[in-house]
Amino acid sequence: MTPDVRGATERDRVRSYALVELSTARESAETPVVAGKVEIVSERRTAIVTGAGRGIGAAVAQRLAADGLAVAVLDLTKESTADTVAAITEAGGTAIGVGADVSDEASVTAAVDTIVAELGPPTVVVNNAGILRDNLLFKMSVDDWDAVMGVHLRGAFLVTRAAQKYMVEAKFGRVINLSSTSALGNRGQANYAAAKAGMQGFTKTLALELGKFGVTANAIAPGFIATDMTKATAQRVGMEWDEFIAANAAAIPVARVGAPDDIAHAASFFASEGAGFVSGQVLYVAGGPKD
Ligand code: NAP
Repeated sequence: MTPDVRGATERDRVRSYALVELSTARESAETPVVAGKVEIVSERRTAIVTGAGRGIGAAVAQRLAADGLAVAVLDLTKESTADTVAAITEAGGTAIGVGADVSDEASVTAAVDTIVAELGPPTVVVNNAGILRDNLLFKMSVDDWDAVMGVHLRGAFLVTRAAQKYMVEAKFGRVINLSSTSALGNRGQANYAAAKAGMQGFTKTLALELGKFGVTANAIAPGFIATDMTKATAQRVGMEWDEFIAANAAAIPVARVGAPDDIAHAASFFASEGAGFVSGQVLYVAGGPKD
């Protein structure tokens, strides 16, 4: 039992036990092996989900809260987190809203300090905050390039760096980074594609560096997900939303576009206790094969 830094009562705790059969029992300092079985015991953990005011981040935050985690719903302003926090608390979960710009070091440091004080040390981080600044290369400004790198890559770096010491101390951690099928290349998205490919390299390196501390790192690479981000793309290319959805669905093997809950389901798996042997992976959640 870890010290109760959140002031939660015993009843507030969520404990789950699972016994996972091992074909071979092996002694290891990091893995509790008892008579051929691994006992997985979890306290209620704290997660940070960035860009969780809406879209995919909001769905991930709600899913992790439903899974029993206390969730820091982080977005650019605290006001923009209100709907997600309300949805979680009305469903009986635990959440706080935190306003922070993930691309700003001081803002991230202050946000993580607040989260530690109010919810306890974060051991799950979902780097989801994102922006688009699409343009063909010859029209792409340096500001467009820097803004996208700043939110996706610098943001994921800053939030993960601030949280990793709590994961290492807990000998448990889950980093989940939002990549994209655009990492494979996408016309008009030189900045975004580079950032999302960068997220994959960042993820694999975290997996290598932090694995021995019980910390996994994985990336989810969504295909087309219906959110405000894809609505903005429809507007930019001058298509009606329904027409845009239908055109995209026609190119997807499962014959529909994705929903934020499709990504939340994958994030729930990567965040789970039982996913401790899955690390450094990129999961394309795109309704069909990619890569
Ligand atoms: P979204 O609806 O545009 O939501 C993005 C969220 O990130 C917004 O709440 C936004 O806040 C927040 N944000 C932006 N800059 C931030 C910053 N500097 N600090 C903190 N929060 C910030 O996007 P989404 O479609 O849910 O996408 C979520 C993630 O999935 C992104 O990383 C995106 O690249 C990735 N993704 C999406 C799709 C898709 O089809 N939708 C596909 C592949 C990958 P504001 O509301 O204040 O702007």
